[in-house]
Amino acid sequence: MKDVLKHFNLNQKRLGGFNGTWLGGGKPLTVTSPMNDKILAEVETVTSESYEKIVKAAHQAFSTWRAISAPQRGEIVRQLGAMLRLEKEPLGRLVSLEMGKPLQEGLGEVQEMIDICDYALGLSRMFSGKVLPSERARHRIMEQWHPLGVIGVISAFNFPVAVWSWNAAIAMICGNTILWKPSSKTPLTAIACTQIAAGVLEQNKCDPAVCSLVIGRGAEIGDAVNTDSRIPLVSYTGSVKGGRHVGTLVQQRFGKLILELGGNNAVIISQHADLDLALKSVYFGAVGTSGQRCTSTRRAIIHESVYDTFMRRLAQVYEQAVIGDPFTSGIHLGPMVDEGAVETMMSAIAKIREQGGKVRYGGDRLKNLGKCYVTPCLVEAKPDLPMVKEETFAPILYCMKYKTIDEAVSLQNDVPQGLSSAIFTKDMQEAELFVSSTGSDCGLANVNTGTSGAEIGGAFGGEKETGGGRESGSDSWKAYMRRQTSVINYSGDLALAQGIQFSLPSGK
Ligand code: NAD
Repeated sequence: MKDVLKHFNLNQKRLGGFNGTWLGGGKPLTVTSPMNDKILAEVETVTSESYEKIVKAAHQAFSTWRAISAPQRGEIVRQLGAMLRLEKEPLGRLVSLEMGKPLQEGLGEVQEMIDICDYALGLSRMFSGKVLPSERARHRIMEQWHPLGVIGVISAFNFPVAVWSWNAAIAMICGNTILWKPSSKTPLTAIACTQIAAGVLEQNKCDPAVCSLVIGRGAEIGDAVNTDSRIPLVSYTGSVKGGRHVGTLVQQRFGKLILELGGNNAVIISQHADLDLALKSVYFGAVGTSGQRCTSTRRAIIHESVYDTFMRRLAQVYEQAVIGDPFTSGIHLGPMVDEGAVETMMSAIAKIREQGGKVRYGGDRLKNLGKCYVTPCLVEAKPDLPMVKEETFAPILYCMKYKTIDEAVSLQNDVPQGLSSAIFTKDMQEAELFVSSTGSDCGLANVNTGTSGAEIGGAFGGEKETGGGRESGSDSWKAYMRRQTSVINYSGDLALAQGIQFSLPSGK
């Protein structure tokens, strides 16, 4: 633990703002590890004066960064990826220490950062506009994509480093600079990433404020970002409630938004499923990261003919869940992020019981391990119970029966959120229906692989209350740019569109 903190110079009080120099001045934040409740470090948050200095520097950095060619920016992001390869082990450990996810998942998260840097490097030579035919002779229409400016990145605790990198790597090659407001639950990983990025930028004689940082309370520093018209795009990852607040404020000033909000992800297990495959996937999806992934499996919709068998097998696996500290090899669940998260889980279980749900297994605190450890909870519930429609950010899985595939799809869709979904079936008609326009209404719809996790190559995000944003692969880069349409006239005459005739007063 001490080695990791020392490696990133976190074994001393740190300032939580960065614009090329470290700034603070605000209330201190004491960071404890959910693993053993020990204090890890103290971070001084930023004041509104520090915030102002940081935004100004990020703007200043934009004026030079956007002038560098896109492939050259890509080369610098490649170097960031190379540095992350070197730092994978300590940074993965720091993620686990601060947030509580098992080390394998901490390392996987850093790998995601490396992958997105590779992807952004390729993209820096590939993002392109269109050339379109003009209705006017000897005219050409072209579309170009230009950077937006300073991008506000507000991230959630559960992917404390990957979410920043998904935004930062793509936004940087597009020519933008970044103002990152991480979760106050995970400031140390944010400081470590910012340090790494600053080192790479400085080595390339670039302004380190390209990757700036503001650690502070959401209600103060978050709202400063939301209402700051110098920030043309806010990319917000967090709860639906938070997204509604951020979205309203940013919209009021006509800022652009990427909203990556909560999910309520279901897996349909058909009578035609490979049950072994489905079991492994549902188990990992529901208990991995202690149910604290936006894509965690929260509902299992099981065909009535395989329901009893599947539930029996699932309960057996739950009974054998390996729970421990994040650094014990082979564990399935580490601690939850903090005691508040455990309280939320316990209250959700009490409510589902009141509403008629039946707890089949788990949902207990494991006080012998620490304050933040729980057993994962398996619940049999009717699909229309209010709690089933909510995202509880905890390892609780609601299981329910269906009779027909149409009923299963309609149950899957009948929640306010629309992030991730999956079907397990070997029946081609069911699989095709599920991914068709009359199938799943989610941003992610998988066949024979679960809801949890995603590769960086595809566009990531969800519909309905999940917010509609897309990040990472495919053409998500467009969200970080402004489109400019230009008409070039090389005719020597002034022809108006739609054939409109217009002449100057005679003699002129
Ligand atoms: P949260 O909503 O509590 O906080 C998210 C971020 O918002 C934090 O940085 C927080 O400090 C900040 N914040 C708080 N008040 C703010 C304000 N007034 N203005 C601006 N920012 C403010 O979420 P969390 O508990 O950190 O994360 C869990 C949630 O995030 C879950 O709902 C999960 O589904 C969601 N999530 C979604 C995705 C996705 O891609 N869809 C990915 C990860 C997490």
